[in-house]
Amino acid sequence: MAESILVTGSIARSARRGDAGLEFEIAERAYVHEGRIYGAEPEGFGAEGVSEIEGYAIPGLADLHCHVGLDESGATDHALAIQQATTDRDTGVLLQRDAGSPLDTRFVQERADLPRLVRCGRHLARPKRYLRNYAWEIEPEALVEYAVAQVAAGDGWVKLVGDWIDREAGDLKACWPTEALTVAIDAVHAAGGRVTAHCFSHESLPGLLEAGIDCVEHATGLTAETIPLFAEHGVAIVPTLVNIGQFLDYAEAGHRFPAYAAHMRTLHAHRYETIAAAHAAGVQIFAGTDAGGVLPHGIIASELAELHRAGLSAAEVLAAAAFDARTYLGFDTLTDGASADLVVYSTNPQDDVRAYEEPRAVVLRGQRVR
Ligand SMILES: [Zn+2]
Repeated sequence: MAESILVTGSIARSARRGDAGLEFEIAERAYVHEGRIYGAEPEGFGAEGVSEIEGYAIPGLADLHCHVGLDESGATDHALAIQQATTDRDTGVLLQRDAGSPLDTRFVQERADLPRLVRCGRHLARPKRYLRNYAWEIEPEALVEYAVAQVAAGDGWVKLVGDWIDREAGDLKACWPTEALTVAIDAVHAAGGRVTAHCFSHESLPGLLEAGIDCVEHATGLTAETIPLFAEHGVAIVPTLVNIGQFLDYAEAGHRFPAYAAHMRTLHAHRYETIAAAHAAGVQIFAGTDAGGVLPHGIIASELAELHRAGLSAAEVLAAAAFDARTYLGFDTLTDGASADLVVYSTNPQDDVRAYEEPRAVVLRGQRVR
């Protein structure tokens, strides 16, 4: 199992934000041995032969919003969950934060051939205010109890459905009173967890901010009032622009609710400028595909192209999809002795996001898997 791989070309090992902006530490060679990566040749390297990969290497991509073990009707079986994770892996995604899954996916974490998985447990939603069979559907009084239970059921992250269509109001409406959010988020923080929330509308954001939310998914409802607060409080966003691109379909599906349909069309029309304004204000942005559930797996390259279209430079996309995202989840990049989780491209993703469309090689835990 002591596979030795020599990586040559350009290896982006770490990133930092200095006076000159975002800078990547680049090496011309790296040594993968016994699952780890090194800048200098380690002892025993190549004793059982060496394979070589040449190109532009980066740390494995991180998808901060996907769903493993979920499809349009709810929980999948294990075989489909494995297929979903494998599809993502082969596109270079080697770290996933699942943003809610009704399937207990701990078995995925026991397989060395599947991406690293940070689980959210199961979505928490109000009764009949989310997709069927996805969430624990609960009233605000039960939120704190269920939220704390998800910290343990998952890997510390808790996923709330922050707003959804209210059929009586005929529009998107916030799902939780601020007091219930505050108690629940405080309790999750006390248990060492973090909380993220699905939010399409502007209306749910002030309450979540006041309650101390850590991260917001989609975030199409950001405004000139809330953007500076996200930056000030360090609340990250995961836009899932491929999913937002489907809002016209969601509007069409909800045409019996004209206010809702109009609202979704407006959010869609402003999606790039909303994310661009957040980026310009210094809000942390991470890549997330929302694969699983409604969207297919294997679409990270499309999401990264969308982030670029929203105004992130190719280098900023690389940080959002790999360096900053991995750090945010508590994982290493390609520093000396780190797990050898890397993707190699024929062209430089630092300059052009089209590089992500076709990885030349994918190495996970030191084993070449593609
Ligand atoms: Zn999702």
